[in-house]
Amino acid sequence: MEKYKNYIGGEWVSSITQEEIQVLNPANGDVLGYVPKAGAKETTEAIEAAHNALDEWASLPAQVRAKHLKKWYELMVQHQEDIARTLTLEQGKPFPEALGEVKAAALFVEWYAEEAKRIYGEVIPASTNRKRIVVIKQPVGVVAAITPWNFPASMVTRKIAPALAAGCPVILKPATQTPLTALKIIELADKAGLPKGVINMVTGGAEAIGKTLMEDKRVSKVTFTGSTEVGKLLIKQSADTVKRVSLELGGHAPYIVFDDANIDKAVAEVMDSKIRNCGQMCVATNRFYVQEDVVDAFVDKLKERFSSFIIGNGIEDGVHIGPLIDRKAYEKVENHIQDAVSKGAEIVFGGKGYHEGDHQDSGYFYQPTVLINVTDDMLVMHEETFGPVLPIKSFKTEDEVIKAANNTDYGLAVYLFTESLSRGIQVSEKLQYGIVGLNDGGPATVQAPFGGFKESGIGREGGHHGLDPFLEIKYISIGV
Ligand code: ADP
Repeated sequence: MEKYKNYIGGEWVSSITQEEIQVLNPANGDVLGYVPKAGAKETTEAIEAAHNALDEWASLPAQVRAKHLKKWYELMVQHQEDIARTLTLEQGKPFPEALGEVKAAALFVEWYAEEAKRIYGEVIPASTNRKRIVVIKQPVGVVAAITPWNFPASMVTRKIAPALAAGCPVILKPATQTPLTALKIIELADKAGLPKGVINMVTGGAEAIGKTLMEDKRVSKVTFTGSTEVGKLLIKQSADTVKRVSLELGGHAPYIVFDDANIDKAVAEVMDSKIRNCGQMCVATNRFYVQEDVVDAFVDKLKERFSSFIIGNGIEDGVHIGPLIDRKAYEKVENHIQDAVSKGAEIVFGGKGYHEGDHQDSGYFYQPTVLINVTDDMLVMHEETFGPVLPIKSFKTEDEVIKAANNTDYGLAVYLFTESLSRGIQVSEKLQYGIVGLNDGGPATVQAPFGGFKESGIGREGGHHGLDPFLEIKYISIGV
């Protein structure tokens, strides 16, 4: 069984205590390998390595940083099938989805290789001709990047690539459940010849690593994707050293279908916004609002679609839905369905989960489950489910549905379906969300700013906007 190492200062190293963490296949509990259980000491070494690399990396011409990133991108494309296989094995999503994610992950590296060359400054007209006002952008410093298990490839590059493009060395802490995909990607960065210390990776105790990163003054910024709970903790921990924080946290996306929607399209897009990754996405639809005249048609077409779905191990051909990440995830799905049913919801499709194999924490699968007669007091209508559950509530008016959609502390993604251009634009503008999918169930893409309003986060990733969080603005007032 392969024992993997951490990557610190350009070297592959084991943890000092020799302690390890098992990485499991969520489909069947197979042990895929072991990674070091690093703690404060290893993290401090990684910070030191990143700090030592800062000046040289930051002062390289942007063209040179871009070349390094481009090389890394090319290697990722060359090895995309291999990375995707690892991704499916440790995370569970069907292989074609994993391959799609790895391609997207590579595109972030390519995009920021290009953007690295466009970190422009400004010259602002002064109020006297005895002065010149010049604005430049400089790297914020050493960056800590903490990533989640649901997108083990694309979350890594969506953070590291803009940081490196801006001139910031990085310490990556990937999710405990899915470090192997990150390791493969970092191995390729090493192969691409990125200077020592520019990327470092530590796996292991999240709390110890997180605390060490947050307490160290040499870390200027933390960029995090994960739960709202940990995000809030990081904001608190960032206070003492006034670290810059970028947070991409939970969501509770509404999916609004108006009676003038193309229903076939609205049903087709559910696959991207709800079924992909077994619903384990912060942008996943959590609640459906369907205008009363089209509820039956929408539900019937959904059922028809789901009836041919194959649930199983994502590495096998033809599987539409893989396993949930672990038992806790399964219990949450089950709890949300039971709670809804106990409060009067009716299951019109699915409703069953099952456990395969002997492993206590792996092998948990769930059918896509459609619920009707849903009411607002049900957990599924206000807590993140992170599973393939589709609660469907009908509505009468536009005002009513906008109010319902906005009635949440979250504000990441919302989806709406209408064939009316004017309604589409007007409703999009009234929804308090960072991302609107207007007749689109999969809006996330490399060129666009991804991030949330309200408690769904701070800052944006992707697009040219994704560079800003890694840059400080410096104003030079020049007397002439
Ligand atoms: P999820 O519930 O989806 O696993 P988490 O927020 O727990 O989301 O995890 C997202 C990332 O944050 C993972 O890399 C995880 O290991 C890390 N993490 C968890 N707890 C902490 C913490 N106390 N400090 C820093 N990082 C943490």
